[in-house]
Amino acid sequence: MNKGTLVVLSGFSGAGKGTIVKRLMEKYDEYILSISATTRKPREGEVHGVHYFFESKETFESMIQNNDLLEYAHYTGSGSYYGTPKEFAMKNLEDGKNVILEIEYQGAMQVKKQYPNALLVFITPPSIEELKRRLISRNTETAEQIQSRFETAKVEAPIMSSYEYILINDDLEEAVDDLHKIVKASRYSTERQNSFISMIQNDVKSLSL
Ligand code: 5GP
Repeated sequence: MNKGTLVVLSGFSGAGKGTIVKRLMEKYDEYILSISATTRKPREGEVHGVHYFFESKETFESMIQNNDLLEYAHYTGSGSYYGTPKEFAMKNLEDGKNVILEIEYQGAMQVKKQYPNALLVFITPPSIEELKRRLISRNTETAEQIQSRFETAKVEAPIMSSYEYILINDDLEEAVDDLHKIVKASRYSTERQNSFISMIQNDVKSLSL
């Protein structure tokens, strides 16, 4: 088992994922955020290697061929690829860091299939009323964009139960501390302690005076 935990975070837009991740990393130094690769063009203010690794389609496709990605998705709407570079995550897990992937459902399920020890957490506001209030009060998007986020939430709600934990972001500090506790506790789950259990069960056989 890796020394660190691969933590996959998904959740409704407006749930406060980004804020939680930022605060988690400020508070606890054992977390590191994976930076995704994408073929979409940078938006204003976005920096290569900070927000994403912005790659050409050819480069991205060769990353797929070379098995350099832990997971990837191709969004038919935008035609863009998004993926998680494997080497960065593996190296940091080996170094004992908890690596955070902030990715959507398709990617989360791919990760879980490949890495059953990955921890999947879905972040949500305490209610849909609150989600609506947060998306509207951001004041940064048009009515059309907000409506499109509502539609995405309708698609995402049914898949919440595929995640292992639901983190309710009501109070930020509490949510951050709860997430940290979930990550810690998850390491002691029986399914993640298989090899330890096998060792104990094997060694107990020869137990004698
Ligand atoms: P945006 O283009 O707005 O930055 O992101 C669009 C979508 O891509 C978001 O839902 C985001 O979670 C998802 N995304 C970002 N990085 C990755 C990744 O590495 N893998 C997958 N599967 N999705 C990603």
